[in-house]
Amino acid sequence: MWYTTEPNTFFQQDIFLMRFEPMTILPDLSDLVIEQVRMTTEVTIAVRAASPAAPCPCCGTISKRIQSRYRRTVRDLPASGRPVHLVIHVRRFFCQERTCIRKIFAERFPSLTLPRVKFTLRLQEALREMGFELGGQAGARLGKKLSYPGSPDTILRLVKRAELPPASAPRVVGLDDWSWKRRLRYGTLICDLESRKPLDVLADRSVETVSAWFEKHPSVEIVSRDRSSEYAAAIKKGAPQAIEVADRWHLGKNLAASIETLLARCRAEIRHALQGETMSEQKRAETEPRLEEEKRPARSRREEQARLARRAQKLDRYEQVLELRDQGLTAADIGSRIGISGRTVQRWLAHGSFPEARRRRRRPSLIDPYERYVLQWWQQGNRTGLQLYRELTAQGYKGSSKAMYRYLERLRTPQRHALGSSSSSKRQRRKRVLASPAPLENFSAQRATWLFVCQPEKLDETQHNELALIRQASPSAEAAYRLAQAFMQMIRERTGHQLDAWLSSAEASRLPEFKSFAKGIQQDKTAVLAGLTLPWSQGPLEGHVNRLKLLKRSMYGRAKLPLLRARVLHVDGSAELSQADLRAAG
Ligand SMILES: [Zn+2]
Repeated sequence: MWYTTEPNTFFQQDIFLMRFEPMTILPDLSDLVIEQVRMTTEVTIAVRAASPAAPCPCCGTISKRIQSRYRRTVRDLPASGRPVHLVIHVRRFFCQERTCIRKIFAERFPSLTLPRVKFTLRLQEALREMGFELGGQAGARLGKKLSYPGSPDTILRLVKRAELPPASAPRVVGLDDWSWKRRLRYGTLICDLESRKPLDVLADRSVETVSAWFEKHPSVEIVSRDRSSEYAAAIKKGAPQAIEVADRWHLGKNLAASIETLLARCRAEIRHALQGETMSEQKRAETEPRLEEEKRPARSRREEQARLARRAQKLDRYEQVLELRDQGLTAADIGSRIGISGRTVQRWLAHGSFPEARRRRRRPSLIDPYERYVLQWWQQGNRTGLQLYRELTAQGYKGSSKAMYRYLERLRTPQRHALGSSSSSKRQRRKRVLASPAPLENFSAQRATWLFVCQPEKLDETQHNELALIRQASPSAEAAYRLAQAFMQMIRERTGHQLDAWLSSAEASRLPEFKSFAKGIQQDKTAVLAGLTLPWSQGPLEGHVNRLKLLKRSMYGRAKLPLLRARVLHVDGSAELSQADLRAAG
């Protein structure tokens, strides 16, 4: 026999026994006797109970009267890559307690496996962990390679059946949304900001759903959230006792978006001032964008502002391309100088005039006749696509739900701006060393935004110089820089008492982007003030949202809420996010 609990002279001194419990080789067989071990391509271990008697599972009376025997096979963890089968010789006993409803019972092996289950407990546990980490499909695939049995369905069943962590009475929570379906359907993740653990995953971010959660959790005293009005309303409804905290990271992100719009608008001003040039009246007229008749729903003022700023930035780049071409530079050189691709330069030059961004022309669609209805529905604040689809089909719409969602997507606000995208700026920085361009030739509003919100002492010399040039070139940029730094300081040092003074200077500035940013803050002032004063932040949430997205993706779009929720809430030591992860995510 190759397995024994007896002390063994060979192993006694060996580090092997000190390091590993024998139980890691076989499951808990303490009440069993091994009768036979057969090793071929598989390992088969025949066992039987050691005790001559067994307790009745109903009444607990010990019985020795055997009625019959049978064999039961259960799978265990593989041994050295070989599947392991335990063949258990099970006895059926007569229950000797006359009042017991069970006349005959089969003996059980509670430390080894559950009744009528074909896997040992520890195999089930291993499969469940695979399920939590990888999901059903990937878990089963990996399992097959490692000789673990278990279909995707079995693994998912184990995950669903796993006990969720006991409900706590959270005091400080954070809310954030995550998208089920790209920019169309959102779910909500709720975290306990004190323990930094996820608390719940909700199917959507509607006022009803979120406020219902709060009603079930009256212990909540403080709620951190993004700037969405939906969450604000849900908190006021479900947790009127709670203090709302507008998250600082989201505040910074909103600020950065305003700065980027402003800088894109001022790009020409910044570059030209530096070169001692002014735009000719004719060029200025060209810069004034033509307003086109628009069929699609009116954009918000903010969106329109951002669009015009982007257009101005592009027009200025285009003029630069022409200038550099006249100087005899190749398309590739021009591209590397001003920070766009050589192919774009070629395309622009081939075009012959300023390549106005064209709205994509839409082919006629089955949804066209219902456009007015959908718009009204949307403007009433409805967001449940499924419900709309039902209403439309009832009215005779013959198109797919997908086509309807595509249409809805166009109604939604454009993407959130990331706070400085590092990959593209790195590429641009690398390109800049190719030629020695004039300063600010490749000025990018996005990169400059980062210079504006970053702590000055964290900038290197080149960045310092670039920032100084921008500030010097444009009075608007200079004013924006002062406001931006003052706001970022409030965020970093949590000096909320300065907010009123800051708002007054922003409102008094001549910068429309800052005026509208200040207006947004006025509308949400209590929460913003709390965000700039209290220590709570969404940091832990952002990390968990990222993890949720990974889990969702690993489920190949088939993620259903209960399973996703089970996987998200299953946070053990290994899955817990480190501070570094959180900073990277936030
Ligand atoms: Zn009994």
